[in-house]
Amino acid sequence: MTDPAASDRRPVTLITGGGRGIGAAIARRLAADGHDLALTYRVRADEVRQVAEECCAAGSEVAVMRADLADLAQVRALVPSVLDHFGRITGLVNNAGITGTIGEFLDVDDDEAELVLDVNVLAPMLLAKDAIAHMATDRGGEGGCIVNISSGAAVSGAPHTYVPYAMSKAALNAMTTGLAKEFAAVGVRVNTVSPGTTHTEIHADAGRPNAPEERAPNIPMRRAGEPHEIAGAVAYLFSADASYTTGADIRVAGGN
Ligand code: NAP
Repeated sequence: MTDPAASDRRPVTLITGGGRGIGAAIARRLAADGHDLALTYRVRADEVRQVAEECCAAGSEVAVMRADLADLAQVRALVPSVLDHFGRITGLVNNAGITGTIGEFLDVDDDEAELVLDVNVLAPMLLAKDAIAHMATDRGGEGGCIVNISSGAAVSGAPHTYVPYAMSKAALNAMTTGLAKEFAAVGVRVNTVSPGTTHTEIHADAGRPNAPEERAPNIPMRRAGEPHEIAGAVAYLFSADASYTTGADIRVAGGN
């Protein structure tokens, strides 16, 4: 069996940052689509438990796991925890991410840039490595699907805003391309969803809570996106309809 979407068994999908924002919307949507879920969080325990309850009410078995993705030892513990709980893993959504503070490139704080690269690049890479080792059919796995949540910034470069973040998302795009080709023959599909500006708390954390409204005039649809609109693209990539889709980047950016 190389396509988990075609299996009789329920998909088991790990979503990083599943407690709020886009990750929570992805969790709700994949629960509705029949996935069992492992949801990670770093600090907002109440919110991830609320999302987990909603997913359970939709029929999913859900495990909640705490991990700071800046700590690579905690990252390496995640896939083993999923295997301990569910006995298998068929999906990974590398969703959790941080932008760093919005500002000019010459004002970038070195430590913050390192944190952005750890959370947005190294953690997803290690998770993909650990997950694929259990998904690949040539290693006894049942196949699998990985979706990396990138950003339109990977292509724009985000000048005067957050160049290190844009760099991190370009690296994630390169990982999608490489892994899609390296593991296509062993049942693992790897794709990217690239949101444009979306209504979540990420903008307040970056120091610009009104960014969605400020950017709206420059978005062809004249509005920022909603998390459920990003989740729909992720759900497609996990579905049987996407069985021949790997290495793709779906932009969900209102026309940008
Ligand atoms: P968000 O609302 O700020 O949520 C961030 C999530 O990441 C939270 O679940 C948070 O966990 C988790 N997280 C942050 N730092 C972490 C760390 N060090 N270790 C573990 N988990 C950590 O963000 P979002 O807007 O939903 O963004 C989700 C993804 O979409 C990100 O990769 C982001 O780059 C991408 N994206 C967002 C936009 C946008 O406009 N919103 C646009 C393009 C791309 P806690 O809840 O425990 O804090």
